Amino acid sequence: MTKIVNHWIGGRHVENAAGASGTYGPVTDPATGAVTTKVAFASVEEVDAAVAAAKDAYATWGTSSLAKRSTVLFKFRALLDAHRDEIAELITAEHGKVHSDALGEVARGLEIVDLACGITVQLKGELSTEVASRVDVASIRQPLGVVAGITPFNFPAMVPMWMFPLAVACGNTFVLKPSEKDPSAAVRLAELFAEAGLPDGVLNVVHGDKVAVDRLLEHPDVKAVSFVGSTPIARYIHTTASANGKRVQALGGAKNHMLVLPDADLDAAADAAVSAAYGSAGERCMAISAVVAVGAIGDELVDKIRERAEKIKIGPGNDPSSEMGPLITAAHRDKVASYVTGAAAQGSEVVLDGTGYTVEGHENGHWIGLSLLDKVPTDSDAYRDEIFGPVLCVLRVDTYDEGVALINNSPFGNGTAIFTRDGGAARRFQLEIEAGMVGVNVPIPVPVGYHSFGGWKDSLFGDHHIYGNDGTHFYTRGKVVTTRWPDPSEGPAGVDLGFPR
Ligand code: NAD
Repeated sequence: MTKIVNHWIGGRHVENAAGASGTYGPVTDPATGAVTTKVAFASVEEVDAAVAAAKDAYATWGTSSLAKRSTVLFKFRALLDAHRDEIAELITAEHGKVHSDALGEVARGLEIVDLACGITVQLKGELSTEVASRVDVASIRQPLGVVAGITPFNFPAMVPMWMFPLAVACGNTFVLKPSEKDPSAAVRLAELFAEAGLPDGVLNVVHGDKVAVDRLLEHPDVKAVSFVGSTPIARYIHTTASANGKRVQALGGAKNHMLVLPDADLDAAADAAVSAAYGSAGERCMAISAVVAVGAIGDELVDKIRERAEKIKIGPGNDPSSEMGPLITAAHRDKVASYVTGAAAQGSEVVLDGTGYTVEGHENGHWIGLSLLDKVPTDSDAYRDEIFGPVLCVLRVDTYDEGVALINNSPFGNGTAIFTRDGGAARRFQLEIEAGMVGVNVPIPVPVGYHSFGGWKDSLFGDHHIYGNDGTHFYTRGKVVTTRWPDPSEGPAGVDLGFPR
Protein backbone atom coordinates (compact mmCIF):
# COMPACT_ATOMS: atom_id res chain seq x y z
CA MET A 1 0.00 0.00 0.00
CA THR A 2 1.31 3.45 -0.89
CA LYS A 3 2.15 5.64 2.09
CA ILE A 4 0.71 9.17 2.08
CA VAL A 5 2.60 12.14 3.50
CA ASN A 6 0.36 15.07 4.37
CA HIS A 7 1.06 18.61 5.52
CA TRP A 8 1.68 19.37 9.20
CA ILE A 9 -0.28 22.48 10.09
CA GLY A 10 -1.24 23.73 13.54
CA GLY A 11 0.16 20.63 15.22
CA ARG A 12 -1.66 17.97 13.17
CA HIS A 13 -1.54 16.16 9.86
CA VAL A 14 -3.63 17.98 7.26
CA GLU A 15 -4.74 16.63 3.90
CA ASN A 16 -5.11 18.79 0.82
CA ALA A 17 -8.46 20.57 0.92
CA ALA A 18 -11.02 19.18 -1.50
CA GLY A 19 -11.70 21.13 -4.69
CA ALA A 20 -9.00 23.00 -6.55
CA SER A 21 -6.32 21.36 -4.39
CA GLY A 22 -5.83 17.66 -4.13
CA THR A 23 -2.71 17.08 -6.18
CA TYR A 24 -0.06 14.65 -5.02
CA GLY A 25 3.49 13.94 -6.13
CA PRO A 26 5.29 10.58 -6.18
CA VAL A 27 8.15 9.74 -3.82
CA THR A 28 10.46 7.00 -5.07
CA ASP A 29 12.80 4.59 -3.32
CA PRO A 30 15.96 5.33 -5.34
CA ALA A 31 17.34 1.84 -4.68
CA THR A 32 14.41 0.08 -6.33
CA GLY A 33 12.88 2.77 -8.54
CA ALA A 34 9.48 1.96 -7.01
CA VAL A 35 7.04 4.69 -6.03
CA THR A 36 6.50 4.10 -2.31
CA THR A 37 4.75 7.27 -1.22
CA LYS A 38 2.35 9.98 -2.34
CA VAL A 39 3.10 13.45 -1.01
CA ALA A 40 0.41 16.13 -0.86
CA PHE A 41 1.23 19.24 -2.93
CA ALA A 42 -0.02 22.43 -1.33
CA SER A 43 -2.08 24.92 -3.23
CA VAL A 44 -2.25 28.57 -2.14
CA GLU A 45 -5.02 27.50 0.24
CA GLU A 46 -2.85 25.09 2.27
CA VAL A 47 0.07 27.53 2.37
CA ASP A 48 -2.25 30.25 3.63
CA ALA A 49 -3.57 27.89 6.32
CA ALA A 50 0.00 27.14 7.46
CA VAL A 51 0.97 30.82 7.55
CA ALA A 52 -2.24 31.64 9.45
CA ALA A 53 -1.47 28.90 12.01
CA ALA A 54 2.06 30.26 12.38
CA LYS A 55 0.79 33.81 12.78
CA ASP A 56 -1.69 32.76 15.49
CA ALA A 57 1.01 30.84 17.32
CA TYR A 58 3.39 33.79 17.15
CA ALA A 59 1.04 35.83 19.32
CA THR A 60 2.07 33.73 22.32
CA TRP A 61 5.34 32.06 21.24
CA GLY A 62 6.94 35.39 20.30
CA THR A 63 6.63 36.60 23.87
CA SER A 64 7.15 33.27 25.64
CA SER A 65 10.00 33.15 28.13
CA LEU A 66 13.48 32.07 27.15
CA ALA A 67 13.23 29.45 29.90
CA LYS A 68 10.14 27.92 28.28
CA ARG A 69 11.69 27.94 24.81
CA SER A 70 14.94 26.35 25.90
CA THR A 71 13.09 23.70 27.94
CA VAL A 72 11.19 22.62 24.81
CA LEU A 73 14.40 22.61 22.80
CA PHE A 74 16.22 20.43 25.34
CA LYS A 75 13.32 17.93 25.21
CA PHE A 76 13.38 18.00 21.39
CA ARG A 77 17.12 17.32 21.49
CA ALA A 78 16.58 14.28 23.70
CA LEU A 79 13.84 12.92 21.41
CA LEU A 80 15.95 13.51 18.32
CA ASP A 81 18.83 11.69 19.93
CA ALA A 82 16.57 8.74 20.76
CA HIS A 83 15.15 8.63 17.21
CA ARG A 84 18.38 8.98 15.23
CA ASP A 85 18.08 5.56 13.64
CA GLU A 86 14.45 5.98 12.70
CA ILE A 87 15.08 9.35 11.01
CA ALA A 88 18.12 7.95 9.22
CA GLU A 89 15.96 5.09 7.90
CA LEU A 90 13.40 7.57 6.56
CA ILE A 91 16.20 9.47 4.83
CA THR A 92 17.68 6.34 3.26
CA ALA A 93 14.28 5.12 2.05
CA GLU A 94 13.59 8.32 0.10
CA HIS A 95 17.01 9.82 -0.60
CA GLY A 96 18.99 6.61 -1.07
CA LYS A 97 22.13 7.56 0.89
CA VAL A 98 23.68 4.80 3.01
CA HIS A 99 22.49 4.49 6.61
CA SER A 100 25.80 5.59 8.20
CA ASP A 101 25.77 8.72 6.05
CA ALA A 102 22.14 9.40 6.98
CA LEU A 103 23.09 9.05 10.66
CA GLY A 104 25.86 11.60 10.09
CA GLU A 105 23.30 13.96 8.60
CA VAL A 106 21.08 13.63 11.69
CA ALA A 107 24.11 14.26 13.93
CA ARG A 108 25.01 17.46 12.05
CA GLY A 109 21.41 18.67 12.33
CA LEU A 110 21.42 17.87 16.03
CA GLU A 111 24.41 20.15 16.39
CA ILE A 112 22.21 23.11 15.48
CA VAL A 113 19.61 21.97 18.01
CA ASP A 114 22.46 22.01 20.57
CA LEU A 115 23.15 25.59 19.56
CA ALA A 116 19.47 26.47 19.84
CA CYS A 117 19.35 24.94 23.35
CA GLY A 118 21.82 27.67 24.35
CA ILE A 119 19.64 30.45 22.99
CA THR A 120 19.60 32.12 26.39
CA VAL A 121 23.26 32.97 25.92
CA GLN A 122 22.96 33.86 22.21
CA LEU A 123 20.16 36.34 22.80
CA LYS A 124 21.81 38.18 25.66
CA GLY A 125 21.67 41.87 24.78
CA GLU A 126 24.24 44.57 25.40
CA LEU A 127 24.03 47.38 27.90
CA SER A 128 26.15 50.52 28.20
CA THR A 129 25.56 52.46 31.38
CA GLU A 130 26.02 56.18 31.86
CA VAL A 131 26.65 57.00 28.18
CA ALA A 132 25.61 60.49 29.21
CA SER A 133 24.48 61.81 32.53
CA ARG A 134 21.89 59.31 33.83
CA VAL A 135 21.53 57.77 30.37
CA ASP A 136 21.86 54.03 29.61
CA VAL A 137 21.73 52.37 26.19
CA ALA A 138 20.59 48.77 25.64
CA SER A 139 20.76 46.77 22.41
CA ILE A 140 18.24 43.98 22.25
CA ARG A 141 17.18 41.55 19.55
CA GLN A 142 13.59 40.55 18.89
CA PRO A 143 11.99 37.88 16.69
CA LEU A 144 10.65 38.71 13.24
CA GLY A 145 7.32 36.84 13.28
CA VAL A 146 6.48 34.13 10.74
CA VAL A 147 9.51 32.93 8.78
CA ALA A 148 9.68 30.36 5.99
CA GLY A 149 12.29 27.77 5.04
CA ILE A 150 12.61 26.05 1.66
CA THR A 151 14.99 23.12 1.53
CA PRO A 152 16.66 20.77 -1.00
CA PHE A 153 16.47 17.00 -1.41
CA ASN A 154 20.06 16.18 -0.53
CA PHE A 155 19.85 16.73 3.23
CA PRO A 156 16.16 16.20 4.07
CA ALA A 157 16.74 16.38 7.84
CA MET A 158 19.93 18.39 8.32
CA VAL A 159 19.13 21.42 6.18
CA PRO A 160 15.68 21.96 7.75
CA MET A 161 17.49 21.73 11.11
CA TRP A 162 19.93 24.43 9.96
CA MET A 163 16.86 26.66 10.05
CA PHE A 164 13.87 25.92 12.25
CA PRO A 165 15.48 25.12 15.65
CA LEU A 166 17.25 28.47 15.73
CA ALA A 167 14.35 30.41 14.20
CA VAL A 168 11.93 28.98 16.76
CA ALA A 169 14.39 29.41 19.64
CA CYS A 170 14.60 33.11 18.72
CA GLY A 171 10.82 33.35 19.18
CA ASN A 172 9.68 33.11 15.55
CA THR A 173 7.16 30.67 14.17
CA PHE A 174 8.05 28.69 11.08
CA VAL A 175 6.63 27.29 7.85
CA LEU A 176 8.91 24.70 6.24
CA LYS A 177 8.58 23.62 2.59
CA PRO A 178 10.90 20.61 2.34
CA SER A 179 11.91 18.93 -0.89
CA GLU A 180 9.00 17.07 -2.45
CA LYS A 181 11.43 14.26 -3.36
CA ASP A 182 12.04 13.13 0.25
CA PRO A 183 9.46 14.76 2.54
CA SER A 184 9.05 12.21 5.37
CA ALA A 185 11.99 13.17 7.60
CA ALA A 186 10.79 16.77 7.91
CA VAL A 187 7.34 15.69 9.07
CA ARG A 188 8.84 13.29 11.61
CA LEU A 189 11.00 16.11 12.99
CA ALA A 190 7.89 18.28 13.38
CA GLU A 191 6.07 15.44 15.20
CA LEU A 192 8.99 15.01 17.60
CA PHE A 193 9.15 18.75 18.26
CA ALA A 194 5.42 18.69 19.07
CA GLU A 195 6.00 15.74 21.41
CA ALA A 196 8.67 17.84 23.12
CA GLY A 197 6.00 20.42 23.98
CA LEU A 198 6.24 22.87 21.08
CA PRO A 199 2.87 24.65 20.94
CA ASP A 200 0.68 23.98 17.90
CA GLY A 201 1.41 26.19 14.93
CA VAL A 202 4.96 27.16 15.94
CA LEU A 203 6.40 24.75 13.34
CA ASN A 204 4.38 23.88 10.23
CA VAL A 205 5.35 21.81 7.22
CA VAL A 206 3.75 22.25 3.80
CA HIS A 207 4.77 20.10 0.87
CA GLY A 208 4.76 20.90 -2.79
CA ASP A 209 6.51 22.62 -5.62
CA LYS A 210 6.75 26.09 -7.16
CA VAL A 211 3.10 26.86 -6.33
CA ALA A 212 3.75 26.49 -2.60
CA VAL A 213 7.12 28.27 -2.77
CA ASP A 214 5.75 31.22 -4.72
CA ARG A 215 2.93 31.69 -2.25
CA LEU A 216 5.42 31.79 0.63
CA LEU A 217 7.52 34.33 -1.26
CA GLU A 218 4.60 36.68 -1.76
CA HIS A 219 2.62 36.13 1.44
CA PRO A 220 2.47 39.43 3.36
CA ASP A 221 2.67 37.68 6.74
CA VAL A 222 5.97 35.93 5.95
CA LYS A 223 8.73 38.20 7.22
CA ALA A 224 11.84 36.27 6.18
CA VAL A 225 12.83 33.39 3.92
CA SER A 226 15.73 30.96 4.32
CA PHE A 227 16.45 28.94 1.18
CA VAL A 228 18.94 26.20 0.38
CA GLY A 229 19.04 24.64 -3.09
CA SER A 230 20.45 25.10 -6.58
CA THR A 231 21.90 28.42 -7.78
CA PRO A 232 19.21 29.35 -10.36
CA ILE A 233 16.43 28.84 -7.81
CA ALA A 234 18.44 30.56 -5.05
CA ARG A 235 18.84 33.59 -7.29
CA TYR A 236 15.11 33.56 -8.07
CA ILE A 237 14.16 33.23 -4.38
CA HIS A 238 16.48 36.07 -3.41
CA THR A 239 15.18 38.40 -6.10
CA THR A 240 11.51 37.60 -5.56
CA ALA A 241 11.48 37.57 -1.76
CA SER A 242 13.54 40.79 -1.63
CA ALA A 243 11.18 42.48 -4.08
CA ASN A 244 8.36 41.51 -1.72
CA GLY A 245 10.12 43.24 1.16
CA LYS A 246 11.31 40.15 2.98
CA ARG A 247 14.63 39.44 4.62
CA VAL A 248 16.21 36.58 2.66
CA GLN A 249 19.20 34.28 2.75
CA ALA A 250 19.47 31.96 -0.27
CA LEU A 251 22.22 29.38 -0.40
CA GLY A 252 22.92 27.95 -3.84
CA GLY A 253 24.99 25.34 -5.66
CA ALA A 254 28.70 24.71 -5.77
CA LYS A 255 31.78 23.43 -7.53
CA ASN A 256 34.23 22.75 -4.74
CA HIS A 257 37.92 22.55 -5.55
CA MET A 258 40.69 20.76 -3.72
CA LEU A 259 44.15 22.15 -4.44
CA VAL A 260 46.88 19.55 -3.96
CA LEU A 261 50.39 20.96 -3.68
CA PRO A 262 53.43 18.89 -4.69
CA ASP A 263 54.54 18.50 -1.06
CA ALA A 264 51.20 17.02 0.11
CA ASP A 265 50.85 13.52 1.50
CA LEU A 266 49.37 12.04 -1.69
CA ASP A 267 47.84 9.02 0.06
CA ALA A 268 46.01 11.28 2.51
CA ALA A 269 44.97 13.57 -0.36
CA ALA A 270 43.66 10.64 -2.42
CA ASP A 271 41.73 9.23 0.57
CA ALA A 272 40.20 12.66 1.16
CA ALA A 273 39.37 13.22 -2.52
CA VAL A 274 37.58 9.88 -2.83
CA SER A 275 35.61 10.34 0.42
CA ALA A 276 34.63 13.90 -0.42
CA ALA A 277 33.85 13.35 -4.10
CA TYR A 278 31.87 10.13 -3.93
CA GLY A 279 30.31 10.24 -0.43
CA SER A 280 26.53 10.47 -0.67
CA ALA A 281 27.05 9.72 -4.41
CA GLY A 282 28.37 13.25 -4.86
CA GLU A 283 25.00 14.75 -3.94
CA ARG A 284 26.46 17.15 -1.38
CA CYS A 285 26.82 20.88 -1.79
CA MET A 286 30.23 20.54 -0.13
CA ALA A 287 31.35 17.55 -2.24
CA ILE A 288 34.77 17.93 -3.82
CA SER A 289 34.06 17.88 -7.53
CA ALA A 290 37.36 19.25 -8.85
CA VAL A 291 40.86 18.27 -7.77
CA VAL A 292 43.54 20.69 -8.92
CA ALA A 293 46.94 18.97 -9.01
CA VAL A 294 49.92 21.32 -8.85
CA GLY A 295 53.21 20.42 -10.53
CA ALA A 296 54.31 16.90 -11.44
CA ILE A 297 52.09 14.95 -9.04
CA GLY A 298 49.12 14.60 -11.42
CA ASP A 299 49.73 11.05 -12.72
CA GLU A 300 50.52 9.62 -9.29
CA LEU A 301 47.53 11.35 -7.65
CA VAL A 302 45.12 10.19 -10.35
CA ASP A 303 46.40 6.59 -9.99
CA LYS A 304 45.88 6.71 -6.23
CA ILE A 305 42.36 8.12 -6.60
CA ARG A 306 41.45 5.51 -9.23
CA GLU A 307 42.74 2.60 -7.09
CA ARG A 308 40.60 3.73 -4.17
CA ALA A 309 37.51 4.59 -6.23
CA GLU A 310 37.52 1.15 -7.86
CA LYS A 311 37.08 -0.47 -4.44
CA ILE A 312 33.95 1.46 -3.39
CA LYS A 313 30.96 -0.83 -2.95
CA ILE A 314 27.76 0.49 -4.46
CA GLY A 315 24.42 -0.81 -3.26
CA PRO A 316 21.17 -0.06 -1.46
CA GLY A 317 21.54 2.37 1.41
CA ASN A 318 19.97 -0.05 3.86
CA ASP A 319 22.61 -2.73 3.14
CA PRO A 320 25.34 -2.20 5.78
CA SER A 321 28.03 -3.27 3.30
CA SER A 322 27.15 -0.47 0.83
CA GLU A 323 29.41 2.57 0.82
CA MET A 324 27.59 4.52 -1.89
CA GLY A 325 23.90 4.47 -2.76
CA PRO A 326 21.89 5.42 -5.85
CA LEU A 327 21.05 8.90 -7.16
CA ILE A 328 17.81 10.61 -6.25
CA THR A 329 15.92 10.09 -9.54
CA ALA A 330 16.42 8.25 -12.82
CA ALA A 331 16.31 11.59 -14.67
CA HIS A 332 19.10 12.98 -12.47
CA ARG A 333 21.12 9.78 -12.98
CA ASP A 334 20.78 10.17 -16.76
CA LYS A 335 21.84 13.82 -16.59
CA VAL A 336 24.92 12.94 -14.51
CA ALA A 337 25.76 10.16 -16.99
CA SER A 338 25.55 12.60 -19.91
CA TYR A 339 28.50 14.59 -18.50
CA VAL A 340 30.63 11.45 -18.49
CA THR A 341 29.61 10.26 -21.96
CA GLY A 342 30.26 13.74 -23.37
CA ALA A 343 33.57 14.27 -21.55
CA ALA A 344 36.02 12.75 -24.04
CA ALA A 345 34.62 14.76 -26.95
CA GLN A 346 35.20 17.91 -24.90
CA GLY A 347 38.84 17.05 -24.20
CA SER A 348 38.87 15.11 -20.91
CA GLU A 349 40.57 11.75 -20.39
CA VAL A 350 38.01 9.33 -18.98
CA VAL A 351 39.86 7.31 -16.35
CA LEU A 352 36.77 5.69 -14.80
CA ASP A 353 33.39 5.56 -16.53
CA GLY A 354 30.56 4.80 -14.10
CA THR A 355 27.76 4.97 -16.64
CA GLY A 356 25.65 1.89 -17.27
CA TYR A 357 26.30 0.53 -13.78
CA THR A 358 23.59 -1.57 -12.14
CA VAL A 359 23.11 -3.52 -8.93
CA GLU A 360 21.98 -7.11 -9.22
CA GLY A 361 18.46 -7.63 -7.90
CA HIS A 362 17.83 -3.86 -7.96
CA GLU A 363 17.95 -3.25 -11.70
CA ASN A 364 15.39 -0.43 -11.61
CA GLY A 365 17.30 1.58 -9.00
CA HIS A 366 18.87 4.89 -10.00
CA TRP A 367 22.40 3.51 -10.16
CA ILE A 368 25.54 4.97 -11.54
CA GLY A 369 29.13 3.99 -10.81
CA LEU A 370 32.04 6.23 -9.90
CA SER A 371 33.54 8.32 -12.69
CA LEU A 372 36.96 9.97 -12.78
CA LEU A 373 37.86 12.48 -15.48
CA ASP A 374 41.45 13.69 -15.90
CA LYS A 375 42.96 16.74 -17.63
CA VAL A 376 39.51 18.30 -17.71
CA PRO A 377 39.41 21.54 -19.75
CA THR A 378 37.98 24.51 -17.85
CA ASP A 379 35.63 25.29 -20.73
CA SER A 380 34.06 21.81 -20.75
CA ASP A 381 30.56 21.13 -19.39
CA ALA A 382 31.91 18.64 -16.85
CA TYR A 383 33.98 21.38 -15.25
CA ARG A 384 31.65 24.33 -15.66
CA ASP A 385 28.42 22.79 -14.34
CA GLU A 386 27.57 21.50 -10.90
CA ILE A 387 27.08 17.82 -11.84
CA PHE A 388 25.86 16.74 -8.37
CA GLY A 389 26.80 13.10 -8.84
CA PRO A 390 29.77 10.77 -8.36
CA VAL A 391 31.97 12.38 -11.02
CA LEU A 392 35.35 13.77 -10.00
CA CYS A 393 37.23 16.10 -12.38
CA VAL A 394 41.02 16.42 -12.12
CA LEU A 395 42.69 19.53 -13.53
CA ARG A 396 46.42 20.06 -13.83
CA VAL A 397 48.30 23.32 -13.24
CA ASP A 398 52.00 24.14 -12.97
CA THR A 399 52.01 26.48 -9.98
CA TYR A 400 50.17 27.39 -6.79
CA ASP A 401 49.29 30.79 -8.27
CA GLU A 402 47.76 29.18 -11.34
CA GLY A 403 45.70 26.92 -9.09
CA VAL A 404 44.39 29.81 -7.00
CA ALA A 405 43.54 31.80 -10.15
CA LEU A 406 41.66 28.82 -11.57
CA ILE A 407 39.62 28.36 -8.38
CA ASN A 408 38.92 32.08 -8.04
CA ASN A 409 37.70 32.14 -11.62
CA SER A 410 34.82 29.81 -10.77
CA PRO A 411 31.45 31.53 -10.40
CA PHE A 412 30.84 29.36 -7.32
CA GLY A 413 32.50 29.97 -3.96
CA ASN A 414 31.05 27.51 -1.47
CA GLY A 415 33.84 25.35 -0.03
CA THR A 416 37.44 24.73 -1.04
CA ALA A 417 40.41 22.88 0.40
CA ILE A 418 44.18 22.84 0.20
CA PHE A 419 46.31 19.76 0.83
CA THR A 420 49.90 20.58 1.72
CA ARG A 421 52.57 20.25 4.41
CA ASP A 422 53.56 23.89 3.92
CA GLY A 423 51.95 26.10 6.58
CA GLY A 424 52.96 29.29 4.78
CA ALA A 425 51.23 28.21 1.57
CA ALA A 426 48.15 27.12 3.51
CA ARG A 427 48.02 30.48 5.25
CA ARG A 428 48.24 32.37 1.95
CA PHE A 429 45.50 30.14 0.54
CA GLN A 430 43.11 30.96 3.41
CA LEU A 431 43.49 34.64 2.69
CA GLU A 432 43.61 34.60 -1.12
CA ILE A 433 40.89 32.13 -1.97
CA GLU A 434 37.42 33.38 -2.83
CA ALA A 435 35.14 30.96 -1.04
CA GLY A 436 33.11 31.06 2.15
CA MET A 437 34.47 27.87 3.73
CA VAL A 438 38.10 26.77 3.53
CA GLY A 439 39.68 23.49 4.59
CA VAL A 440 43.37 23.00 5.28
CA ASN A 441 43.95 19.26 4.88
CA VAL A 442 40.18 18.96 5.51
CA PRO A 443 38.27 18.16 2.31
CA ILE A 444 34.75 19.05 3.46
CA PRO A 445 35.09 22.04 5.77
CA VAL A 446 31.46 22.24 6.94
CA PRO A 447 31.62 24.58 9.95
CA VAL A 448 30.50 23.29 13.35
CA GLY A 449 27.14 24.59 14.57
CA TYR A 450 28.53 27.57 16.48
CA HIS A 451 30.33 28.92 13.39
CA SER A 452 28.17 29.94 10.43
CA PHE A 453 27.88 28.06 7.11
CA GLY A 454 27.78 29.85 3.79
CA GLY A 455 29.48 30.39 0.47
CA TRP A 456 30.48 33.37 -1.63
CA LYS A 457 29.59 34.45 -5.16
CA ASP A 458 26.89 32.30 -6.84
CA SER A 459 26.80 29.98 -3.82
CA LEU A 460 24.93 32.45 -1.58
CA PHE A 461 22.60 35.37 -2.20
CA GLY A 462 21.99 37.63 0.77
CA ASP A 463 24.35 38.79 3.47
CA HIS A 464 23.78 36.30 6.25
CA HIS A 465 25.35 32.87 6.37
CA ILE A 466 23.25 30.15 7.95
CA TYR A 467 23.31 28.99 11.64
CA GLY A 468 25.94 30.13 14.19
CA ASN A 469 25.85 33.82 15.12
CA ASP A 470 24.64 34.74 11.63
CA GLY A 471 21.64 32.49 12.26
CA THR A 472 20.48 34.33 15.36
CA HIS A 473 21.08 37.64 13.59
CA PHE A 474 19.06 36.54 10.57
CA TYR A 475 16.12 35.39 12.70
CA THR A 476 16.02 38.50 14.91
CA ARG A 477 16.05 42.24 14.40
CA GLY A 478 17.94 44.69 16.51
CA LYS A 479 16.50 47.42 18.65
CA VAL A 480 18.42 50.00 20.66
CA VAL A 481 16.77 51.49 23.73
CA THR A 482 18.12 54.75 25.18
CA THR A 483 16.90 55.41 28.71
CA ARG A 484 17.19 58.37 31.06
CA TRP A 485 16.14 57.98 34.66
CA PRO A 486 16.84 61.26 36.44
CA ASP A 487 18.14 61.00 39.93
CA PRO A 488 15.24 61.71 42.34
CA SER A 489 17.22 64.68 43.70
CA GLU A 490 17.36 66.39 40.27
CA GLY A 491 14.79 68.69 38.78
CA PRO A 492 13.59 68.72 35.16
CA ALA A 493 16.33 69.08 32.50
CA GLY A 494 14.68 72.12 30.88
CA VAL A 495 13.95 72.81 27.21
CA ASP A 496 16.92 72.62 24.79
CA LEU A 497 16.27 72.66 21.02
CA GLY A 498 19.87 71.78 20.14
CA PHE A 499 20.90 68.32 18.96
CA PRO A 500 22.41 66.41 21.92
CA ARG A 501 26.20 66.83 21.93
P1 NAD B 1 16.39 22.77 -6.10
O1 NAD B 1 16.87 24.16 -6.24
O2 NAD B 1 15.88 22.07 -7.30
O3 NAD B 1 15.19 22.70 -5.01
C1 NAD B 1 15.32 23.30 -3.74
C2 NAD B 1 13.93 23.68 -3.25
O4 NAD B 1 13.36 24.63 -4.15
C3 NAD B 1 12.96 22.51 -3.19
O5 NAD B 1 12.18 22.62 -2.03
C4 NAD B 1 12.12 22.68 -4.45
O6 NAD B 1 10.80 22.20 -4.30
C5 NAD B 1 12.12 24.18 -4.65
N1 NAD B 1 12.04 24.55 -6.06
C6 NAD B 1 12.54 23.87 -7.13
N2 NAD B 1 12.28 24.53 -8.27
C7 NAD B 1 11.62 25.66 -7.94
C8 NAD B 1 11.10 26.75 -8.69
N3 NAD B 1 11.21 26.81 -10.01
N4 NAD B 1 10.48 27.74 -8.03
C9 NAD B 1 10.36 27.70 -6.69
N5 NAD B 1 10.84 26.68 -5.92
C10 NAD B 1 11.47 25.67 -6.54
O7 NAD B 1 17.58 21.94 -5.42
P2 NAD B 1 17.65 20.38 -5.15
O8 NAD B 1 17.86 19.67 -6.46
O9 NAD B 1 16.55 19.93 -4.26
O10 NAD B 1 18.99 20.31 -4.28
C11 NAD B 1 20.28 20.23 -4.83
C12 NAD B 1 20.91 21.60 -4.95
O11 NAD B 1 20.95 22.23 -3.68
C13 NAD B 1 22.36 21.55 -5.42
O12 NAD B 1 22.56 22.59 -6.33
C14 NAD B 1 23.16 21.77 -4.15
O13 NAD B 1 24.44 22.30 -4.34
C15 NAD B 1 22.28 22.73 -3.44
N6 NAD B 1 22.57 22.74 -2.00
C16 NAD B 1 23.24 23.81 -1.52
C17 NAD B 1 23.58 23.85 -0.17
C18 NAD B 1 24.33 25.00 0.40
O14 NAD B 1 24.44 25.07 1.61
N7 NAD B 1 24.82 25.95 -0.38
C19 NAD B 1 23.23 22.77 0.66
C20 NAD B 1 22.53 21.70 0.13
C21 NAD B 1 22.20 21.70 -1.22
